[in-house]
Amino acid sequence: MSDEILGHFINGERIAGTGRSSAVFNPATGEAIGRVAMASSETVARAVDAAAAAFPSWRETPPLKRARIMFRYKDLLERNTRRITEIITREHGKVADDALGEFSRGIEVVEYTCAAPELLKGEFAKNVSAGIDSWSEHQPLGVVAGITPFNFPALVPLWMFPMAIVCGNTFVLKPSEKDPSTSLVLAELMSEAGLPDGVLNVVNGDKEAVDALLKSREVEAVSFVGATPTAEYVYATGTASGKRVQALGGAKNHAIVMPDADIDNAANALMGAAYGTSGERCMAISVAVCVGDEVAEKVVGKLKDGATRMKVGPASDAASEMGPLITRDHFEKVRAYVDIGVEEGATLVVDGRELALQGYEDGYFLGPCLFDHVTPDMRIYREEIFGPVLSLVRAASLEDAMALIDDHEFGNGTCIFTRDGEAARHFGNRIKVGMVGINVPLPVPVAVHSFGGWKRSLFGDLYAYGPDSVRFYTRRKTLTQRWPSGGVRERAQFSFPNTPLEA
Ligand code: NAD
Repeated sequence: MSDEILGHFINGERIAGTGRSSAVFNPATGEAIGRVAMASSETVARAVDAAAAAFPSWRETPPLKRARIMFRYKDLLERNTRRITEIITREHGKVADDALGEFSRGIEVVEYTCAAPELLKGEFAKNVSAGIDSWSEHQPLGVVAGITPFNFPALVPLWMFPMAIVCGNTFVLKPSEKDPSTSLVLAELMSEAGLPDGVLNVVNGDKEAVDALLKSREVEAVSFVGATPTAEYVYATGTASGKRVQALGGAKNHAIVMPDADIDNAANALMGAAYGTSGERCMAISVAVCVGDEVAEKVVGKLKDGATRMKVGPASDAASEMGPLITRDHFEKVRAYVDIGVEEGATLVVDGRELALQGYEDGYFLGPCLFDHVTPDMRIYREEIFGPVLSLVRAASLEDAMALIDDHEFGNGTCIFTRDGEAARHFGNRIKVGMVGINVPLPVPVAVHSFGGWKRSLFGDLYAYGPDSVRFYTRRKTLTQRWPSGGVRERAQFSFPNTPLEA
């Protein structure tokens, strides 16, 4: 481990870390692999000042020129895939395929930004009244801040800054302090692609940096992704000072398994959706609702089989299907939830607590855990665990299963496994959740749509990336013009401007 403290990226260059810092760990080994600076409010102000200074000329840069930088960026990202996915696996711990999946989905957002001239062209109406034309345009906001979580160190930053920048804003990103290196490389590659200095800045840090961004008068808007209590705080604090805020929060995603479903496929889909990334995904399925006891018995049997055979291990082993949890604290928290589930009376069918990996005894590995007979009053049902713990709940009918989902605090993603088109259509139409899968366990919208949940999974009303992000990162302005012919004298008009009705 070098003595250097990972710092920031401000005004086109790396800034050495000074002052407060925090350790960064390799979750597979439990070893401290570096330290990252915790930006002071002065460092944040420096980044915001750099972004504010870059804004006037960036906002005037034609969208086509901005898009061309994004074309080059996409190419550079692809050429740096290995480098970036290795950083993700080292600091986050997810297995190599999973890191690649995350990174590819981030590149899709960059591809979408290449359509900037089309996305920003606005609307024009000629002759809205005699000799008068009117148009609406999307103007950038100014300095925008992004605050991101640990679980997608490349994807979530890529949801934010490419769209914000291509819309003409300048940006300050505050990534998670648990896996901070990816963002710095993403920013350096933007410079290499031709982005002017100061348009994208990265400050590493914790609450102090977040609070400095929320208090800054120059920050016009904030995109946040993280846990619901933090999302609520960021939303309340940011909007109270007049900022535009979108804050995406936590989740408890349910999958319904209907009696007519292809049970083998549904069980395999549930395995991947529950235990992929060790359950550290906001779209992970953490509750399987089986309609009828017969279905439940079959699903439990198949999941038990699959979970027992799953290969848990470090990303360095190509056979690993699931890696460690992010930190020792988070590992202890998830493990404690398994103890709580047992105390609450749920049946622990697969117990991952005793998993021991030779050579990785200090890593934060928890094996897959499966609970049956979970009921809605239990904490393991109500609270987000964010680990490899799947709860199976039994319901008597589709309506009962849907009522469970609708009554839950969160509404991020959900899915139904069925062969019945009518049931699927009814579910898609009525369920109170933002992203819905029909035989698709992780219905993460592609880049041409937008990503967001309902209820306490999202504060604000515009989703991340896709068409909603053009609305979030721009302000609509509507202009109305006329060019009176020279020499024509006009009388004062005292009526409200209108086109007279026919007599
Ligand atoms: P977190 O809320 O602890 O941290 C997110 C960011 O907020 C980090 O940059 C962190 O430094 C900062 N932060 C943490 N506590 C803060 C505080 N008190 N005040 C100000 N800033 C603070 O979240 P996490 O543990 O990094 O990520 C996991 C959570 O994120 C889960 O709840 C997961 O569901 C959620 N998540 C949601 C989505 C979504 O799209 N809805 C996507 C990914 C993750």
